[in-house]
Formats: sequence, C-alpha cells, structure tokens
Amino acid sequence: MKLAVPDYILSLKPYVAGKPLEELEREYGITDAIKLASNENPLGPSPLAIEAIREAVEQLHRYPNGGGFHLNARISEHLGVDKESIILGNGSDDIIAMLARVLLQPGDEAVLPRPSFLFYDIMIRCSGAIPVEVPLQAGCCTDLAGMLARIGPKTRLVFLTNPHNPTGALITKPALDEFVAALADDVVLLIDEAYIEFVRQLDCPQSIDYLDSGKTVVGLRTFSKAYGLAGLRIGYGLMPPFLANLLNRVRQPFNVNSLAQAAAIAALDDQKFLQDTIGLVADELEFIYTALDDLGVEYLKSQANFLLIKVGRSADDVFEDFLKQGVIVRSMTSYDYPDCIRVNVGRHDENVRLLEALANVLQKTED
Ligand code: PMP
Repeated sequence: MKLAVPDYILSLKPYVAGKPLEELEREYGITDAIKLASNENPLGPSPLAIEAIREAVEQLHRYPNGGGFHLNARISEHLGVDKESIILGNGSDDIIAMLARVLLQPGDEAVLPRPSFLFYDIMIRCSGAIPVEVPLQAGCCTDLAGMLARIGPKTRLVFLTNPHNPTGALITKPALDEFVAALADDVVLLIDEAYIEFVRQLDCPQSIDYLDSGKTVVGLRTFSKAYGLAGLRIGYGLMPPFLANLLNRVRQPFNVNSLAQAAAIAALDDQKFLQDTIGLVADELEFIYTALDDLGVEYLKSQANFLLIKVGRSADDVFEDFLKQGVIVRSMTSYDYPDCIRVNVGRHDENVRLLEALANVLQKTED
C-alpha cells in the first residue's frame, strides 16, 4: 500500500546517535570499551539525583506531575525566571520539536549555522519548512552578520548554539547583544545552551539576559550534560509566557517522567557534583590540549566538554580504527568535517586511553 506521506518526511534521514557502549562490546567481544562520543558526563549521574530516583520509584504507579510543578518552581528559583516562562521537555530535543511544531509551516524558513546539531535540521524539515544554512566563519565562529543577512520575510525561527556544537566556540556578549538588537520582532531566536555550564570565558552571555529584551528569545537548557542525567531525558526552555503558553498546547500531557523530575530537582541542589564536573572537564581539557600539541595534532580549543580534532584522513575510517581499540569517538563527516572527530572529555584514565588510541591511529596514517 502506498501511503500519502509528505515528501518532506520521505526525504528525512533518521538522527544517528553516538554508538552505544554495549553495542561495541557485543560486536567486538570486549568488556572495557569507553565512550567519548555523545558529550556525556565523565563522572556519571549526580549522587543526590540517584537518591531522589530511589525515593521516587515508590510512586511509579502514578502519572507524573504534568506541568512539572516542583521542578518548574525549583528552576524558577535557581535562575530568577518566572514560572510561566519555563517549559519542561523530554530532553531539550523535545523543546526544539515543540518550537518547530508551533512556529513552522511548509514553506517557512529557519536560519541556522552550518554545521549545527543535526536535530535542528530534522525538526525544521519535519514541519515542511526550509533550513537556511549559514557556514561558520574561518576559525569556526558563528557568522552572526551572515545569519542576519539571511533572515527574510519567510524566516520564523533562528538557531544559535552557545557554546557551539561541534566546534565548542563561544558567541561573546557584545556580539549577541548586537544580534538580538538587530532581530526583527516577528522572528523567534533559539539560543541553545546545552553546554553553557562548562564555559570558562568571562564574556559569555546567557539567554535569560534577553528574556525581557522585547525580542522573542528562547533559552534552551539540559540536564543531560553537566548534570549527568542524559538517560532520563530532561531539559527545559525559557521563553516569554505567551510563547510558553503556545508550546503548552502541543506538549504531550506527561512529557517528562516522574523520575526525571525528581532527579533534576536533586541535581540542581547538588552543586558539589556540578562543580566537580566542571572542574574535571576544565583540567582534563588542558591535559588533552598539551598531549595533542605534543603529538602535533590540530584541534580547536573549546568552551564546552568536547573538542574537535583533525585526524587528517577519513574520519569514518578513523572512527573504525578507534572502535577496534575499544574507544568510541564521533566521526564529523555528517557535520561537514570529513577529516575530524569530536571527542568529549572523559575521566583522566579514559582521556589517557583516548590519546594512546589516537597515537596508534596517527601512526597508521603515516605508515
Ligand atoms: N542541543 C545540543 C547542542 C546538543 O548537543 C544536544 C545533545 N547532543 C541537545 C541539544 C539535546 O540534548 P538533550 O535532548 O539530551 O537535552
């Protein structure tokens, strides 16, 4: 039977996630593989979050609190943002999907940097809208002037990632101030801050600085990275209440499960875990930079918990070479960098293994 599926759905390609650890171990018959491919937390989940999950398990026969009342209140207190401005999501992916659903119709345009986190493109196309991609500048910074120039009468949504994935580059406060001021009133700007907790540079703007700017700015945050809760799927959006109200109309009634809500509240209280994570990532990034310099490998300095490394030959082949050594990295071929891999910072022992595996890979390149 031929179904009447829209062409824009037929032309989509499924999102390809980082290879799961257990899949590699099953395929290669090994037990000590490491994964540095999905920008996850090197320290595991927050211990306070685990405790909160244990308690919340007893109530699993109940539906979750649909609007996430307690977590919403905790985030509101944490950031000093009105509760009406916060929408919880089943991962921040869920907020991206809701925004696209609310704002985009077939033929509309959404402007985004190229490359960007691949799910943006999928969600834009999923609504029948057209992605308008603006290449990063040399040095891999977001081309804000180039993006402004591509915003036109059909533009409904603009994507920024700060710091950027996959480059780890930061948009500075003066640059973002200027960008927001120049935005048309009928355009929504999404600032995806999935990695903002890791930023060390001082002039880092925060999306909440623009919530009262008169422009429609949405901040996107996640518990998947610095808070170590990727498996639970929990993130949130910060936006003017009128837009939150629209998102609530398309939100699934119980989009965030009860364990995720309980764990996220505990994770926000676990400042020690957060600081340990951020400190480890900062220290280990420096360790990795030094080792890469010693190896004579090109890389981009990053404000996030991952970095791009130039491997000088097919990243897809190199990905396989790493797999054979029990190390999962991410090939950047689908992100327009066919000779680069992206790795996230792991624990020190994992980073040592990564660098050993990289030295072997480079040796093979020379042979
Ligand atoms: N935005 C960016 C830039 C990301 O890298 C990711 C995860 N890889 C997400 C959003 C989605 O995160 P989550 O759905 O786990 O909150």
